[in-house]
Parts: sequence; C-alpha cells; structure tokens
Amino acid sequence: MLAQPSEIGSKPRVLVGGIWHETNSFSPVPTDLDAFRRFLFVEGVEMVAALSGTNTEIGGMLAAADAAGIAPIPACWAGAVPSGMVLRQALDHVVDTLLAAAIPPPDGVLLALHGAMVAEGVDEADAYAVQRVRDAVGPDIPIVCTIDYHANVSAALVAAADVLIGYDTLPHIDMASRGREAAEVMGRLLAGMARPAKAFRKLPLLTVPQMQGTADAPMRELMALCHRLEAEPGMLTCSIVVGFPYCDTPHLGLSVLAYGAMEAAERAADTLAAAIWAQRAAFKPTLTSAGDAVGAAVRANRGPIFLVEPADNVGGGAPGDGTDLLRALIDGGAEDAACVIWDPAAAAAATRVGVGGRFHGQVGGHTLALHGQPVALEGTVTFAGEIRYLRDSSWMTGQPANLGLVATIRAGGVSVILTTERAMPFDTLHLRMAGVEPEHTKMITMKCGSAWATAFADMAIGHIYVDTPGICTSNLERMAYTRLPHSFYPLDPDTTWP
Ligand SMILES: [Zn+2]
Repeated sequence: MLAQPSEIGSKPRVLVGGIWHETNSFSPVPTDLDAFRRFLFVEGVEMVAALSGTNTEIGGMLAAADAAGIAPIPACWAGAVPSGMVLRQALDHVVDTLLAAAIPPPDGVLLALHGAMVAEGVDEADAYAVQRVRDAVGPDIPIVCTIDYHANVSAALVAAADVLIGYDTLPHIDMASRGREAAEVMGRLLAGMARPAKAFRKLPLLTVPQMQGTADAPMRELMALCHRLEAEPGMLTCSIVVGFPYCDTPHLGLSVLAYGAMEAAERAADTLAAAIWAQRAAFKPTLTSAGDAVGAAVRANRGPIFLVEPADNVGGGAPGDGTDLLRALIDGGAEDAACVIWDPAAAAAATRVGVGGRFHGQVGGHTLALHGQPVALEGTVTFAGEIRYLRDSSWMTGQPANLGLVATIRAGGVSVILTTERAMPFDTLHLRMAGVEPEHTKMITMKCGSAWATAFADMAIGHIYVDTPGICTSNLERMAYTRLPHSFYPLDPDTTWP
C-alpha cells in the first residue's frame, strides 16, 4: 500500500493568511473592499512576492516556515488604513478568499490579524473571521494567530484560536518576529506538543497610544515582567494587549493572554494583570494646546521639533484632515514648518495648477466638524505627482505604501502636503518624496499617537503632544461612548478590579 504524504515525512501543510484592520467606530469613513485593495490585498503567490523578506507578520511566518518544519500554503492577506466600520461584504469577501485556500483542508492555520476590527453588525469581526476558519477546518486543526498590541481581544477570539500572540513593541517594530514565533508554535503543535491551556484576563482599563510606548514607563517595566513570566517553566507565550479605545464596542479594555501548562499560564496572567492594574495611574497623558505648542517650537527656532497630534491619528482611524494645528502654524507665524493633510480634491486641484503655479483653495476639514473647518490656503505648488514606495523604516519594512496623487503647497513658512490616500507617518519617505526634507524643517506636525517615533525620533530635537479635538483624542473623557458594559479607569477613577 502506498503511504500518504503525511506518513512519509513530508511537511505538514499550513494555511498562511489574514486580515488586518483597526476600526474606529467614530469615523464616518467606511472601509470597503476598495480600501483594502488600495492599501494591500494580495493572494497566493502574489502574497508571497509582496511580503517575503518584509518586517510583517506574514514575512516572518514565511521566513520561519522551513525551520519550523511546515509547508506554507499562501492564502491571502488584506489590510486597510485604519478607518470606520468595515463593510460586511468586504469582510466576507476576504474570509471567503482565505477559505478558498483551505481546500483540501490544511494541517494547520496561521493568521496575521489586527484584533480591533469591527464590521457592520459584527462587533467582534476578528473572532468572526477565525470562527469561520475554525468551522471550515474543524476542531482538531491548530489555529495560531498574531494580533496587534492594540487588539480589543474578546472571549470569542480567544476561544476560536488555539494561540494568540501579540506584538511586544510600540512603536511596532516586531511584526516579523511575532510571525516567526507563531510559525514556531505551529511547528511544535504539529510535531505533537499538547494544545496549551489559555489564560485570559480583561482589565477595565483604557489607555492611549501616547502613553503605551514600550521603551518608556510604565510599559517598559511591564513588558519586561511579561518576558520574564514567558520564560518560566511550563509557559509557551504571554502577551500584554493594551487595546484600542477609539471604538464604541463592549469588549474594550487591556488584555493579558498567557498560554502553556494550565497552572503556569493562570499564574502568569494573574501576576501580570495585577502589576498592570497597580500602574493604572501612570498611563495618564500630558497634552499642550496647539497655540502653546507652536509658540514653543517657534521660540526654539531650530528643529526638527515634532508636533504630535494624537486626536487626528490616521493610524487610529481618524481622517487626517484636521485643521486646528495647521491654523495654529499659520496664526503663530511658523517658519520652515511642514504639515500633511488628507485632501484628495485639493491635491488634484493643485496638481492641475502644476509645479511653480499658484494654488488658492480650501484645504482639510472635510470629514468631521470636530476636526476643524477647512483652511483657506494660498501658495506655490512645489511638488505634484503620484507617491508610491516600499516602507524603509522599522514599521512593516518593505511593505508597499501608496499615498496616491500628492501635491505640496508652500504657503508662507508652511509646506502643506496634500495626499489622496491617508498617510500614517511611519516613514520619512512620505515627506521626502513630496519635497520636504525633515532634517531641514523646524517643526513638523504628525497625525499619529506614537508612530512618529519609528522613523523620526532619532532626528528629533524635541516633540510635543498637542491637544486638539478629534476622534482619537488622548483625553478619553471626551469620547462619546454609549456601549461600555461597565465602568472603566480612567473614565471613572473609582473603578475597581477584580
Ligand atoms: Zn497597533
């Protein structure tokens, strides 16, 4: 009788794919299938070509597959810039594409997820996606997933996957490492390691990106504790998942995940959760008004100083067209300043004027009244053209980036870069390709929570977190939550746990 492939020692077949979206339910910008296609939606060999060798979870999974003793079956990976609700049709299309690669059934499944995705009518959209994969492959096939540090982990997601592995860094730089870890865990599971016990703790604690950096207190020490616990006997993997507060869903809050022998995992989860809760007051942010921030940068008269605007954090799903800080730059007489604003119509209009011509028009302020009114801008077009590049900093290094049509207007002392796609400031290239050299700029606004530090911290002579109104504000007291199931710290300082 002929032996089946699995009996002659060929490698187990492991489906590799995923879907990645951080959904801000306060954003009116819906996330349709086209939004995934414009960021990245790659299938099969195309996924391997686009992500092999990159600092992405899929890149790490593919790189580690051989050593882990698994044969990857590339399915698909779809990601979109954080924005509003994912359309149900888009979610189902991506999951259907993933499942098409599960025929014939694989021996294991590796998924690169975000974990804070919400779709129309599906609060726990990551859990929905994993459960559909689980239903297709059955209960015996291991499913191991990577998730973002900002995942809003739900009990349903924990139940659907055998192991969840969160990023350990903010700014995020360990995506490929976590992908490798996931592939190694999969290899061990398929080599006969027992399914690990799961310990999951959810704290009634909301924190903001500005205070979650893993190189700073309190997360530096908490992450070090996480790694010490992870190395204890019986432990497989352990993650602190801080969560994403800019979504009005019931399953918000910081999560602790521990996998391994039951006693070790439970003890690690309890130790870590208690240590985090004890530090809850240390997550309180400090913010400066837009006028004071610009005033301080103008007085410094050298740079670059980064004026970081978490309320309009593109990577948190805010539109990136807020104008309060641009107005403060103009009113404050800023010189050698730069600002990126999402405005497809103004970018197109400026492109029609052409480089060297004069642009007159309203920019920004088109999406949400909360993010300020459009600003009347008059200046010289200094750049116009399409911008696409491969990311060259430590966030998703090598991943294709697409800003669409971009125009730069020099208005007084401010260079305003108008983009057609919303730009997360993870790379210097999105400025350089638009003609702005950050090293030669005194102040640069950054529409992000902490992403600016990835590519710009080394050149910064200073940074100021600026308090503007917006749907990603670090002032969580300003968020209009309606669906929280219980009190949360710091919204209610008297919140108790457990
Ligand atoms: Zn994140």
